[in-house]
Amino acid sequence: MKCAVCSRKAKGFGYFNPRLPRSDPRRYSDRWVFCSMRCQNAFSRLMEKTGGHMIDPSDMELAAMASCLGPLGEYVGSIGMQRPLADYSKDEVLMLIDVVVTAYQEHMLVEHERMAEKDRAFLEERLVRQGKSASTGVLIKLTVS
Ligand SMILES: [Zn+2]
Repeated sequence: MKCAVCSRKAKGFGYFNPRLPRSDPRRYSDRWVFCSMRCQNAFSRLMEKTGGHMIDPSDMELAAMASCLGPLGEYVGSIGMQRPLADYSKDEVLMLIDVVVTAYQEHMLVEHERMAEKDRAFLEERLVRQGKSASTGVLIKLTVS
């Protein structure tokens, strides 16, 4: 199982939505597992503020990928910008992966924490936009088929 916030390996931290009755299946999700109390806290604060609605993480993921570019460039620069990837040692490739994955995970966690600090109006606006983009997706699918 992967942490719902940062994708590290989950370690026994969970979450349920206390706003919903025990009989409601939306009260629990087996995807709501976390690697640390820090990720668990960020997620639960965000859920409290949005009244239990999930914020779609897809644009957060895109931003997290973009945030890897800086550290990736720095690392490649440090071992020789002109070297082809085929000349990298195994350790250098593993280090490169570590640099990117760490930057990605850190961005996802910090972004969840930052979102949880936002006010309710901001989060509601985001949820509305999320709903709109979902219906646009259906329209596109209908046009294509
Ligand atoms: Zn995590």
